[in-house]
Amino acid sequence: MKLKLKDRAEEIKRPFLIAGPCSVESEEQVMNVAQDLARDGRTSMLRGGIWKPRTRPNSFEGLGEEALPWLVEAGRSVGLPVTTEVANAKHVELALKAEIDVLWIGARTTVNPFAVQEIADAIKGTDITVMVKNPVNPDLMLWIGAMERLMKAGITDLVALHRGFSVYNHPKYRNVPSWEIPIALMEKMPEIPVICDPSHISGKRAGLLQVSQKAMDLNFTGLMIETHPTPDDALSDPAQQVTPDGLHEIIDQIVLRKEAISGDALDYIELMRAKIAAQDDKLFDMLSNRMKLAEEVGIYKRENDITILQQEHWRKVIENRLGQATDFHLTKEFVRALMDAIHQESIRHQTKVMNPDLKG
Ligand code: PEP
Ligand code: MN
Repeated sequence: MKLKLKDRAEEIKRPFLIAGPCSVESEEQVMNVAQDLARDGRTSMLRGGIWKPRTRPNSFEGLGEEALPWLVEAGRSVGLPVTTEVANAKHVELALKAEIDVLWIGARTTVNPFAVQEIADAIKGTDITVMVKNPVNPDLMLWIGAMERLMKAGITDLVALHRGFSVYNHPKYRNVPSWEIPIALMEKMPEIPVICDPSHISGKRAGLLQVSQKAMDLNFTGLMIETHPTPDDALSDPAQQVTPDGLHEIIDQIVLRKEAISGDALDYIELMRAKIAAQDDKLFDMLSNRMKLAEEVGIYKRENDITILQQEHWRKVIENRLGQATDFHLTKEFVRALMDAIHQESIRHQTKVMNPDLKG
């Protein structure tokens, strides 16, 4: 089956919502959740994990093959297409045989080009839709590479799933969203719809709305949210799953904003954009002048045998600028990243004048 989300953008009501349990645990569980989801009419696809990639060996690893027909039956009974994760050629073969509509590749599989290639080879010749989760590490090219392998195998209907990136002991997220990565993906592959998975980003129920709202404000096509009849009893990921009613409450609270601008709004935004562009012009002029000064200093350092990097000076500069962040209404993270970028560029300019004959 093909979803063709981009072609159907007009007709599909955002968010395109994928819901269902982290893992299929029994025939009743998946049927029950499917029926409750279908009642509200906003869910567009039923998910359910059959083979679970778990971090530790004694965790519940999914029921495997026997649960495939339960997922398919639950979906068919309420008219929803179904999707599950595949991690090797055998999973693909069994999922296709069971008539699973859409496959997804998990974050732990996307990191491994051998595994992705094995899946691509197994899917070759079908016209199924494949959703590709981002790799666990924040590597855009690995995510793109996985989709390219599928394209080379003739898969034309691809969806990217953003589930965040592994991090040790983060106070807020189970997997940090690093929104700049899916945004860069949209820029490089505008034809690929991106769906956000707030469940695995947040890791807890309380964070789902905030992540979902952000994804909608960034113009994501849809959301994939884990849903269980009794989340606290779930055999996998209990803290992040919600009941179908809980899911509907979240969806009700999301404010859907439009990307298209027209009329007065367009006039106002155009005016503001022009003002902002004028500020950017000034910024560029200043940066260019700043680098000219760096080159002059570089020449002086060369003639007086002084190193480019002056660690103690740089430490003081950073400390001073970080101390000013709040006064300038800037975050410390931004000031740090900006000063580091400026410093690196300054070093490049000084290196060029210091050692003009050394290439590389
Ligand atoms: C899942 O969606 O249940 C899952 C295992 O996700 P991920 O690959 O993002 O960890
Ligand atoms: Mn899960």
